Amino acid sequence: MAAYDYDLFVIGAGSGGVRAARLAATWGARVAVAEAYRVGGTCVIRGCVPKKLMVFASAFGREFELAQGYGWTVGERSFDWKTFLNHKDLEIARLSGIYTANLEKAGVELIRARARFADPHTIELIGQGRQVTAERILIATGGRPKLPEGLDGIEHAITSDQAFHLDALPERVVVVGGGYIAVEFACIFKGLGSDVTLVYRGANILRGFDEDVRAHLGEELVRRGIKLALGVQHARIERRDDGRLVSHLSEGLKLESDQVMFATGREPYVEGLNLEAAGVQLNERGAIAVDAFSQTTAPHIFAVGDVTDRVNLTPVAIREAMAFVETVYRGRPTKYDHADIPTAVFSQPPVGAVGLTESEARKRLGAVDVYLTRFRAMRTMFAGQEERTLMKLIVDRGSDRVVGVHIVGTEGPEVIQLAAIAVKAGLTKAQWDETTALHPTVSEELVTLREKYVPPELQAAE
Ligand code: NDP
Repeated sequence: MAAYDYDLFVIGAGSGGVRAARLAATWGARVAVAEAYRVGGTCVIRGCVPKKLMVFASAFGREFELAQGYGWTVGERSFDWKTFLNHKDLEIARLSGIYTANLEKAGVELIRARARFADPHTIELIGQGRQVTAERILIATGGRPKLPEGLDGIEHAITSDQAFHLDALPERVVVVGGGYIAVEFACIFKGLGSDVTLVYRGANILRGFDEDVRAHLGEELVRRGIKLALGVQHARIERRDDGRLVSHLSEGLKLESDQVMFATGREPYVEGLNLEAAGVQLNERGAIAVDAFSQTTAPHIFAVGDVTDRVNLTPVAIREAMAFVETVYRGRPTKYDHADIPTAVFSQPPVGAVGLTESEARKRLGAVDVYLTRFRAMRTMFAGQEERTLMKLIVDRGSDRVVGVHIVGTEGPEVIQLAAIAVKAGLTKAQWDETTALHPTVSEELVTLREKYVPPELQAAE
């Protein structure tokens, strides 16, 4: 008889957990996965997928405007929030069903319960009144929205979790934060017709992205009618008798709205796991501490995805899960390389980026060359729109390798997926230039950039 009930017990059926469970089962392991909510995790249920559907929904308004510039007569338009939500929920249910079916097909047992450690090899299934044992355990519980502590009236605010299920589209909305989620939702609400103010404590949105990207996107958001309140913070939120909210901000500013959404970061979801019973330690950021093989401080327990707070993106969780299975169930020690991960902010216009920002490159490599272009793309310019696309290449002067690509513009994310191949492969600027342009496209600019750009502050030094 086997010493344990399972070879592998996975906690959490999100992107990382499902991939690891399925692959390990495929290679012969007896696997169970516990999920307290719905199969699919943040990405499928209340993240990337429903968000992208909302981005699509919210982009139509502007498309109708563009169409008129091309000679179309566009009739009366209206958007029905409830219809969209129903369609969105059906699609999410369909996808969650596919994830569940795939687990079953791979022979994984799905346990619909919250799990917590009873001891290093024993898992208690809460609400089921039973315990199971496993030789190895994978923690893939993801993250959850983090709200500022002690802010008076924070209970009146929502997070992205609730934004997917609002009863009605708010007429006026205040979005708080300057990261991925805040910027994406500010654009979604704006596109759907809300009056939007983005409140951010810093001097410009998207900290960590290239400075030119940050400045350019900020300008484009304003052009689209989003109000940016920069350098201010919430002091308290008041709910008035008529249900309206008042944001009391620093500098004595006040903003009235129907909804306040906080997107002030996410935190690893470790609460209730009873990690002490398993000997699993957290790092200084409150995430599960892992080595390059995703192994925790308990050698038979591993963790992947947002709960480890490395790079919190779905494809990264999936690759970490695949590396874990390769290492443990196929005997091929595999470290996932976290360098040069492409990323996109699905703002409107969106951002796509891979590799180093200009300031990171200057710090790490010393001498770098920058190629930068800002232009009005044919499609929108023809329709009389002022919107500008930004493209920027960062090149290591010593090796001529393209080490960073940054785009703000409609095709940004799609182009960056392919540019990431070239960056990851270490191709040189000369090799990019040998590539023949495809005309007329937006991305042809990336292989026709010849003139070096010197930022004004460095012009004297060059
Ligand atoms: P981010 O970490 O991207 O941004 C958090 C923002 O909130 C920052 O602007 C931060 O400001 C601000 N903030 C933090 N604490 C406070 C506070 N107490 N008061 C006011 N502002 C505060 O988090 P998100 O919530 O936007 O997203 C979480 C993660 O989810 C992302 O980092 C990303 O990994 C992932 N994600 C990816 C997406 C994609 O790939 N398209 C989409 C959505 C999420 P400051 O900059 O000053 O620290």
